[in-house]
Amino acid sequence: MATIVQKYGGTSVGDTGRIQNVARRICATHEAGNQVVAVVSAMGDSTDELLRMAHEISTSPPERELDMLLSTGERVSVALLAMAIHELGHEAISLSGSQAGIQTDTVHTKARITGIAGTRLRDTLDSGKIALVAGFQGMSPDEDVTTLGRGGSDTTAVALAAALGADVCEIYTDVDGVYTADPNIVPQARKIDIVSYGEMLEMAATGAEVLMLRSVEYSQKYSVPLHVRSSFTDKPGTLVRKEDEEMEKAVVSAVTHTTEESKLTLLRVPDKPGIAANVFGALAEENVNVDMILQNVSEQGTTDISFTVMQADLPAAQRALDRICDKLGVAYVLGEKMGKVSIVGAGMKSYPGVAARMFKTLAEQGINIEMISTSSIKVSCVIERDRVADAVKALHQEFQLGG
Ligand code: ASP
Ligand code: MG
Repeated sequence: MATIVQKYGGTSVGDTGRIQNVARRICATHEAGNQVVAVVSAMGDSTDELLRMAHEISTSPPERELDMLLSTGERVSVALLAMAIHELGHEAISLSGSQAGIQTDTVHTKARITGIAGTRLRDTLDSGKIALVAGFQGMSPDEDVTTLGRGGSDTTAVALAAALGADVCEIYTDVDGVYTADPNIVPQARKIDIVSYGEMLEMAATGAEVLMLRSVEYSQKYSVPLHVRSSFTDKPGTLVRKEDEEMEKAVVSAVTHTTEESKLTLLRVPDKPGIAANVFGALAEENVNVDMILQNVSEQGTTDISFTVMQADLPAAQRALDRICDKLGVAYVLGEKMGKVSIVGAGMKSYPGVAARMFKTLAEQGINIEMISTSSIKVSCVIERDRVADAVKALHQEFQLGG
């Protein structure tokens, strides 16, 4: 008997009809002789709706209360889903994150899972019932409700799959799988059949939105195979798993992008030990996630330091910089409307010249590269936001990723 963890996103449970559709899918998996745990997101945009109400009442709602509020969205989904499954003649019970044994740290709104007490879930499955778990939430050591950050239900599912030693974690969403590029930008984009954890990590980190980054990290750490697929069809989706010999290693597997970057440049900071530590320490104190960092050669004892942050972190980043720049007596400039385009592929490791091909393609489009960063299987370029779509199209064509 296989143990299967399924995760259904907000669109898949967007209304009661869709919840009934999900119930049928879960029952079919159960009838096929599998033990099933289903993790569910909040219905449609209901998390956004809850956030909107919170912000109508307060400009900075206490994070503990935000978690209390946001965790209700997923509870609505699991309870309704349990009812739909009962209507189909199967036995299911719904569980909140804490009832399912999901333990987290105390960082409200972005908690990390620290452990899973799986007895309740195991007992449920062993008694022949289907277990339904509210996604995106857990409980802190203080017994407070926590949430895992936007998109966190993916992480709930992967963590449960790891804890239960599940055979597969199926992530049901409103797209067929992981694509070679955003099909809204490149209509010829193709569904990828198999991709390695490493590639998927880079893709999630550089803008592919199908999977939450942390859930991919988790699945790699515990070797949980992921199957990303549509809840509206029976077609196989994209398998994310360990890289092995048989896996075809494409030079470039996908082109990803973001349009939410801002670039900050500190001008002529003293080139001596401790400066970067100070600057990025101040940013860390404001909980700013810094993406790319670039420091140039110094001239006359000073150098420029540029880095990018997501637009959402910009106010906090500016707060930190205002403070630190005052102290250092330097100025900074802001490039607000930036984006980033990346190429990702495991085959890059053994092929020289891939980055050059990317730069040439961008040059032919008249696109200026502002910053570059690479890993062994990724090249990213920060460019003007207005040119991101052109860059994605041109790169998709250059590396022949179309169907
Ligand atoms: N409902 C939460 C969100 O919209 C969590 C999730 O969907 O995974 O971010
Ligand atoms: Mg969601």
